[in-house]
Amino acid sequence: MKKRIIFVFLAISAVLYFFYASSSQDSKADRYVVVLSLDGFRSDYPEMAHTPTLDSLERVGVRADFRPCFPSVTFSNHYAMATGLHPDHHGLINNFFYAEDLDKIYTIGNREAVANPGFYEGEPIWNTAERQGVKAANYYWVGSETAVNGRQPSIWKPFDSDVPFKNRADSILAWLQLPEEERPHLLMWYIEEPDAIGHRATPDSTATRQMVEELDQLLNYFFTEVRQLDIFDRIDFIVLSDHGMATYYPENYVNLNDYLPRDSFDHVFDGVPTLLYTKESYRETAYQILQAVPHIKAYKKEEIPSRFNYGTHPRVSNLVVVPEIGTYVQFRADAAPRYAATHGYDNYEPSMQAIFYAAGPSFKTGERLPAIANVNLYLLICKLLELDPAPNDGTEEEVALILK
Ligand SMILES: [Zn+2]
Repeated sequence: MKKRIIFVFLAISAVLYFFYASSSQDSKADRYVVVLSLDGFRSDYPEMAHTPTLDSLERVGVRADFRPCFPSVTFSNHYAMATGLHPDHHGLINNFFYAEDLDKIYTIGNREAVANPGFYEGEPIWNTAERQGVKAANYYWVGSETAVNGRQPSIWKPFDSDVPFKNRADSILAWLQLPEEERPHLLMWYIEEPDAIGHRATPDSTATRQMVEELDQLLNYFFTEVRQLDIFDRIDFIVLSDHGMATYYPENYVNLNDYLPRDSFDHVFDGVPTLLYTKESYRETAYQILQAVPHIKAYKKEEIPSRFNYGTHPRVSNLVVVPEIGTYVQFRADAAPRYAATHGYDNYEPSMQAIFYAAGPSFKTGERLPAIANVNLYLLICKLLELDPAPNDGTEEEVALILK
């Protein structure tokens, strides 16, 4: 009799053990992650403008400067954050480039190129999630419009800049209220400001400050609404950007047309950086001429300093021109800078640094952290959602600084 009681007791204990073990796993799977990217939001904009919502995120969470990858351009960096890989490892090596492996040119304005999965290497976080049974929703992150390795997020949208920012916020709010079995746990969204206004009006302008304040008000609307949801306490929020912005010095403008014959190159992508695909026989001559051009540094791809993590991918041009901060480079017969400011420079330049705010149950509170490399985003999201990461360039130590 006594033996039977002990047996029943042990059996109940085992059932309870498995119940709690599995329910504690369920609670992890019950987490949500919402990531917003504000394009070109420079790390010091919150000090230049009235941003009470971002300030409150810093008080209840963590804030850090977010260091872009080189080149500090939009597509390379959004896809670096999504895959945890440097552009040299994920293949989207600039906003404009020639891919020898595909014999095709990539430009961000060419829909056919942007939709071609052959350009996108590595595994974006939404595919890591979906592959492991976690639904993902995506509003415009670079790469989400394409089936990379045959997969896409459960919910995604073709880019349309006419959709008002508030509508995008409302979609995220609606997706968080879908029936539980359809509800995504990883939600990523994108807003193309204050990049556009920063290019046109310069980062120090009143117009840029006003846009930063409008975006902060949009965040206030979003957080006021999301706080009403039952699942609010289970959502980890991240607000970040891809790079900063630097005003041109007009006197530093360089037109390579004054120095080099354009027909000695197979492909030229000017701007910041400038990618020059020379005919091999002309490379040394072009390199020597470029050494004498003011306000730029020209590198052979195999001699690019290692801190840039750039130059090993076959798509990187055999000569790479990195302009000094504030210098714009073109390679045209009749040309002048189209904008007042830009980015794409050395990713360690202070004016290229982006923002990173994280608030929610998984993050430390009220801490200003040292600068974080943006390739850590992939590994961070894997930790938050308990996903097995694909190979990536993130570091456990840097990610650990953010987490409770
Ligand atoms: Zn950008």
